[in-house]
Amino acid sequence: MKLEFKNSLSIKLLRIVLLSALIVGAVLGCAQIVFDAYLTRQAVNEDARRTLNMFRDPSTQALYSLDREMAMQVIEGLFQNTAIRQASIGPPSGALLAEKIRPLQDTSSRWLTDAILGQERSFKTPLVGTGTDQEYYGDLSITLDTATYGQGFLTNAGALLLSGVLRALLMSLVLYLIYHWLLTKPLSKMIQHLTSINPDHPSAHLIPQLKGHESNELGVWVNTANQLLASIERNAHLRHEAESSLLRMAQYDFLTGLANRQQLQTHLSKILVEAGRSQRRVAVLCVGLDDFKGINEQFGYQTGDQLLQALTDRLRAHSDSLGALARLGGDQFALVQAHIEQPYEAAELAQRILDDLEKPFSVGQQNIRLRATIGITLFPEDSDTSEQLLQKAEQTMTLAKSRSRGRYQFYIASVDREMRRRRELEKDLREALLGNQLYLAYQPQIRYSDHRVVGVEALLRWQHPEHGMIPPDLFIPLAEANGSIIDIGEWVLDQACCQLREWHDQGFTELRMAVNLSTVQLHHAELPRVVNNLLQMYRLPPGSLELEVTETSLMEDINTAAQHLLNLRRSGALIAIDDFGTGYSSLSYLKSLPLDKIKIDKSFVQDLFDDDDDSTIVRAIIQLGKSLGMQVIAEGVETLEQETYVITEGCHEGQGYLYSKPLGARELGVYLKQAQRNNALNM
Ligand code: C2E
Ligand code: MG
Ligand code: MG
Repeated sequence: MKLEFKNSLSIKLLRIVLLSALIVGAVLGCAQIVFDAYLTRQAVNEDARRTLNMFRDPSTQALYSLDREMAMQVIEGLFQNTAIRQASIGPPSGALLAEKIRPLQDTSSRWLTDAILGQERSFKTPLVGTGTDQEYYGDLSITLDTATYGQGFLTNAGALLLSGVLRALLMSLVLYLIYHWLLTKPLSKMIQHLTSINPDHPSAHLIPQLKGHESNELGVWVNTANQLLASIERNAHLRHEAESSLLRMAQYDFLTGLANRQQLQTHLSKILVEAGRSQRRVAVLCVGLDDFKGINEQFGYQTGDQLLQALTDRLRAHSDSLGALARLGGDQFALVQAHIEQPYEAAELAQRILDDLEKPFSVGQQNIRLRATIGITLFPEDSDTSEQLLQKAEQTMTLAKSRSRGRYQFYIASVDREMRRRRELEKDLREALLGNQLYLAYQPQIRYSDHRVVGVEALLRWQHPEHGMIPPDLFIPLAEANGSIIDIGEWVLDQACCQLREWHDQGFTELRMAVNLSTVQLHHAELPRVVNNLLQMYRLPPGSLELEVTETSLMEDINTAAQHLLNLRRSGALIAIDDFGTGYSSLSYLKSLPLDKIKIDKSFVQDLFDDDDDSTIVRAIIQLGKSLGMQVIAEGVETLEQETYVITEGCHEGQGYLYSKPLGARELGVYLKQAQRNNALNM
């Protein structure tokens, strides 16, 4: 805060002192002037008396001898005094012996001095003989013009007033300086320090003691203020501590230190807003311990408490995948899994937690086993409010407990069924490879320049002993999730290469095999070595194996992906980017990747004539591929019109039901021979 100079205390003091000194000076000056006026009048009288005394004897002489000339000389003598305006010598009655008058002096200050001293003053003295009888002859009279005296009086009064004013000015200036030095300056310093004090830590910058003022009121003020600041800080600290401990008590569970229900709800609401914005799912998992009451009764409450703390630690270990963790009370906990894409991610977390809790807890001397049941709700499917999501998760958990324990259950029955099926499938998938339930189907790829079959794509099939055919779109994500995709993928590669060798041996030496790679496989360090081995083992020429990767698998980590693709290429494989156009690949990335082929996703080809955008996209992809020097293949070609369109736009190859559905190895062998015959006929 900056004080304006004109508002400072010393200026105020200066103003007051100046004004009062001026008033006092003026009053005293006036009194002095009045007194001076009185003295001046006295001086006039005195002057007159002295003059009359001086001229009395010659005047008496002149009057006694009636000597007019002499009288006139006396008068002239009197007129040497400039203040005398009129003088006369004469008997008491009859004509005067001598008289002289001169006009009033013309001075500019007359108007003022006349008012104070009168215009003129007349005096006379009797002229008496020196004899014993003291005979009276007449009078000597004079009239004095006051102007001369007035002039002196005015000069005096002016000097008086001026000196009064000067004295007042000087006094106030001295006072101002003293006051400024003694008070204003130290006060300003203190104010400056006060303004720089941090209100959160008032005692961090105490006001420094003022030099030379240590023991006066200012010094005492500084000390007292500093003490006050220190106690303010102490109090604020205490209050802050009390508040935060109150807050902790209101928001956290005392035993486990986890958030309580109220805090969880606040947190969950925020997570839901965020998830709504990013269009992701959120799962709320309510974990209830099975028969915790029994444990308390068997081992005592203290052990029960320790068990809950140990359990909390285990739940906390999953915090990577958690948005929030809370204790709802008693033996119930809630976990929030934020930003998931698919419900199965919640199922997987639930299963991990259940598995984790099954490992025995060692509390004191005891080894205790715990089992839990988990109810799961999903945002946005089950509700979009935190309160309901929690409530429904708890209900689901209670309901699940009443049926069978030690498992998880989703709120929506269909989701629950799907999850269960998924889980079963996942389990079955582990056995599928060994149980010979997997096989490959092959779909031909046609080169448009001569309409020959130049390649086949190997597509994985799973013949489930109970559920029949399971589509790869369903089971491949499962295999990716449980890691079995590595073994399965290697099996597919081996199988496809082996089959290609067979067809090459049958004379289709130009045939190329396309194999799909999953993201997990692509990032598996062993892959290039596996590919290399297979190519050598089955004596396949370079360029006869094409690996299909998806856009999304590349975009996750572009640099690593580029490195892996380079390694694969070095081992002799070609690289194609599958389902092109469905991801979010940036064109600049595309340029930096070692790719040989672009596969236009079937969704664009299929909607070619229903959607203008799709035909534009197809045309653009073909142009893009060509300009980057890559081959372009259209996927999902089902009609002649689609074929004509992509050929006209310059697409190199095509694949789809128009040529053939994916076929078993034997059927594809037949198809190849048929195609070979047709070609021979057409030539
Ligand atoms: P994809 O690699 O894009 O394979 C093309 C899919 O489109 C195949 O489905 C194929 O049957 C289908 N398709 C081909 N032509 C047409 C057509 O004209 N019309 C229609 N409607 N569909 C057509 P499929 O065999 O169900 O495979 C689905 C996806 O599963 C594949 O898509 C691929 O991403 C994945 N996949 C298949 N086999 C494997 C494998 O061995 N490993 C990995 N990692 N993924 C595989
Ligand atoms: Mg493919
Ligand atoms: Mg595709």
